[in-house]
Amino acid sequence: MKKRIVITGAAGFLGSHLCDRFIAEGYRVVGIDNLITGDIRNIEHLFPLEDFEFYNHDVTTFVHVSGNVDYILHFASPASPIDYLKIPIQTLKVGSLGTHNLLGLAKEKDARILIASTSEVYGDPLVHPQTEEYYGNVNTIGPRGVYDEAKRFQESITMAYHRFHGLETRIVRIFNTYGPRMRLNDGRVIPAFIGQALRGEDLTVFGDGLQTRSFCYVDDQVEGIYRLLLSDYSLPVNIGNPNEITILDFAKEIIKLTGTDQKIIFKELPKDDPLQRQPDISKAKEILGWEPKVSRAEGMKTTYQYFKGLTQEELFKSEHKDFSKHNRL
Ligand code: UDP
Repeated sequence: MKKRIVITGAAGFLGSHLCDRFIAEGYRVVGIDNLITGDIRNIEHLFPLEDFEFYNHDVTTFVHVSGNVDYILHFASPASPIDYLKIPIQTLKVGSLGTHNLLGLAKEKDARILIASTSEVYGDPLVHPQTEEYYGNVNTIGPRGVYDEAKRFQESITMAYHRFHGLETRIVRIFNTYGPRMRLNDGRVIPAFIGQALRGEDLTVFGDGLQTRSFCYVDDQVEGIYRLLLSDYSLPVNIGNPNEITILDFAKEIIKLTGTDQKIIFKELPKDDPLQRQPDISKAKEILGWEPKVSRAEGMKTTYQYFKGLTQEELFKSEHKDFSKHNRL
């Protein structure tokens, strides 16, 4: 009997790669997405498969899945700072109400559930690199609070279901991840810079560009999540690439990669933009035998190829997505 897995956020960047991975591993995959930030084209190739089902559903309302379920991956959430500024209430709801519904489904089905958490639970960290033991430095009422606190609540309720109901739970803290199928106009730095280079625009570095990030290629991220799901470890695990770079140096790398002669221009730093971020991945190494394999040079090359394959129309329709028709509470 094939195992059956429910993946929320299935049409999103990470969700769609996870659907591919679990199909390839011989699972039956039930994808759920309300397509606010996700894009059906990311999973269109899976529709002809017998082992793939898809439901257009908002998981902040009751989630029903008929039949047996062995595993659940909860990956539905806006994940870019610009998205969650535009749809703050949905961001809070999917992390809180959505997680509650999926934990309920896991309990009902006696399924193991893995929750997508984030390095944002560390806020603007005062400890560097960030270990899982660090409690974070988060502004509850700042613009990022809607995402950060939803994810922190998500971790709390997941641990409560684990401790109180004995549910099998896993928590992955995802650090900046990139690769094909990121939304060009989601405002995150990699699609932003590549889009700008392809359109012949200057690259917009926020602040002085000395803030750091550590970018993980999507295949590495998916491998880490896969191993964590199948492990027996229920406390949070960081999955990310520790190779840290300043945003300014990264902009210079993009200019080299794309072979363009774009200039770098500086714009205002968004409020509460973390100054540095780098995962301590000792736990993932020790418990999952995992570490990233794909270098930034390699991963960025593949990612650039993907964005180069977009049509001119897609490339120039790059203003931020209009969520107004979804803005019902
Ligand atoms: N950033 C930038 N220019 C852009 C978009 C982002 O300099 O056009 C910066 C942003 O201020 C942050 C970093 O790049 O310091 C990563 O931003 P992103 O939105 O990708 O994710 P974050 O790690 O902040 O959640």
